[in-house]
Amino acid sequence: MRVAVVGGGMAGLAAAYELASAGAEVVVLEGSDRLGGKLRLGDVGGLTVDLGAESILARRPEGLDLIHAIGLDDRVVHPATTTAAIWTHGALRPMPPTVMGIPADPAALAASGIAEMPTPRILPVPDHDVSVAEFVSERLGRDVLDRLVEPLLGGVYAGSTEHLSLRATTPQIADLGEDLIAAAAANRAAATRTGPVFAGLVGGIGQLPAAVAATPGIEVRLDATVRAVARTGDGWRLSVGPTTDVESVHADAVVVAAPAPAAARLLAVEAPAAAFALAAIDYASMAIVTFVLDDADVPEGSGFLVPPVDGTFIKAATVSSNKWGWLGDSGRTVIRASVGRAGESTLLQHDDAELAARALADLRQALGSLPEPADQAVQRWGGALPQYDVGHLDRVETIERSVAEVAGLEVCGAAYRGVGIPAVIASGRAAARRLLDAGTMES
Ligand SMILES: Cc1cc2nc3c(=O)[nH]c(=O)nc-3n(C[C@H](O)[C@H](O)[C@H](O)COP(=O)(O)OP(=O)(O)OC[C@H]3O[C@@H](n4cnc5c(N)ncnc54)[C@H](O)[C@@H]3O)c2cc1C
Repeated sequence: MRVAVVGGGMAGLAAAYELASAGAEVVVLEGSDRLGGKLRLGDVGGLTVDLGAESILARRPEGLDLIHAIGLDDRVVHPATTTAAIWTHGALRPMPPTVMGIPADPAALAASGIAEMPTPRILPVPDHDVSVAEFVSERLGRDVLDRLVEPLLGGVYAGSTEHLSLRATTPQIADLGEDLIAAAAANRAAATRTGPVFAGLVGGIGQLPAAVAATPGIEVRLDATVRAVARTGDGWRLSVGPTTDVESVHADAVVVAAPAPAAARLLAVEAPAAAFALAAIDYASMAIVTFVLDDADVPEGSGFLVPPVDGTFIKAATVSSNKWGWLGDSGRTVIRASVGRAGESTLLQHDDAELAARALADLRQALGSLPEPADQAVQRWGGALPQYDVGHLDRVETIERSVAEVAGLEVCGAAYRGVGIPAVIASGRAAARRLLDAGTMES
C-alpha cells in the first residue's frame, strides 16, 4: 500500500511511522521547507533551543512510547523543577494545588494571595456543552476564573475561557461534579500517581521530527504544498507544488495531517461536510521570544503564567535553564516568554525588536533586574493553536463521520481531540491504524 501523508508535523509523522512500520510505502508531503510543524530547534546565542513546543506530557503514554520506539530513550529527561508561579498583584506567587485551576487546597490558595477563596455555589453539571468561563464563574466567581483557570488554559490553548468548550478542553473540571472545590480537594487527597508529569529530550524536543522521519519506508518531500486531493478509479491523486508547476502524486490512500484551514480546502470536494466543519475551527497566533543572558540572577522555579486581566504584554514565561538541566549546565540563563492569545493579534503587530523589548520589560518587572541579553530570537507562530470553542466535539464528530464515509481517506492532528504532542501522536497513529485495518480487510 502506498500512502500520501499531507503535512509533516508530529501528527503526520506519527501516522507515517505507524504506516511504514507495518510495511506501507509512505510519502510525507510537507508544504514548508522543514519538518516538524510546531516543533522547531534554533540557535540562540550559540545554544540550541526549542523555539516551539518544548516538552511532552509524560502521564500520557503516546509521546514517550514513540520516543522509545525510535530509539531516543537515552535522551529522555524530566524537568529539574516544576515549581510554577502566577505573576499577579505585583508579585510572583506560588501556584497552589488545583485541578485545571480549580483550587484543591483552600489554605494554600489563601496563602498564595492569587485569588479570593470563593464561596462555592453547588449546581448540577449541564448535559450540554458550555464555555469554561460560564461553568466556572457561575460556581466559583470571577476571581478564580480570571486568575487561575484563565492563565492555565491560556498557556495550553492560547484561548479565552469565554469561548473555550468545557467538554473539549477541561473535561476534568466537568468531572468534578456539583461541588467543585470539595471534589478537587478529594481528588488531591486520593492522588496516588507518582513520577514526573512532563518529559523532554536532552538537546530539545525539536529533535523528534527528524528522528521519526528517519524510519525506513518514509520518504519526505519538503516544499511540497498539497493543493488538492481527488479520488481516481483506484486510489487518489494529489496536486502538489507551486500553482505554476503542479505535479500529480498518486497513492492508494491519503492522511490529511494539515491544520484545519488547509484540511478544509483539501476536503471540500471529497468530504464537504467535514470541510464545512473544519472551516469553522479558529486558530490563535502567538510568538515565543527566547533570551539568552549571561550573569543573570533569576528566581528558582520553572516560570510563571500571567492572568490576562492584569493586562501585561507576555502571557507566560519559562526559565528554561532552571527547567532543563541540559540547558542549565551551559551556565547561562535561558528564558522564553510567550505572547499572544486568541483575540490578541494586535500584540503581534510589532516588529521583532519591539516585541522582544516589550517582553523583556515584563520579564524585568516579574523576575527582577536582568542584564541586557547576549542574544534573543523571536519565533512567530501564525495559526499556532486551534480553538476548541463551545460545540467543538460535535464538530469533530461531524468531521469524523464525513471522513469515515470515504474509503482511503483519514485526517489527524491538533484540530480534533487534543493539541498536545502525545495527543497528536495518538491521533496520527490511530488514523494510520484505521487505514491499515481497512487495507487488511480488503485484501
Ligand atoms: C509555540 C507553541 C508551543 C507549544 N508547546 C507545546 C509543548 O510544550 N508541549 C506540547 O505537548 N504541545 C505544545 N504545543 C502544541 C503542539 O506542539 C501542537 O499542537 C502539535 O505539535 C501540532 O501538531 P500537528 O502535526 O497537528 O500540526 P502542525 O505542527 O501544525 O503540522 C502541520 C504541518 O502541515 C503542514 N501543512 C499545512 N498545509 C499543508 C499543505 N497544504 N500541504 C502540505 N503540508 C501542509 C505545515 O507546514 C505543518 O508542518 C505548542 C504549540 C505552539 C504553537
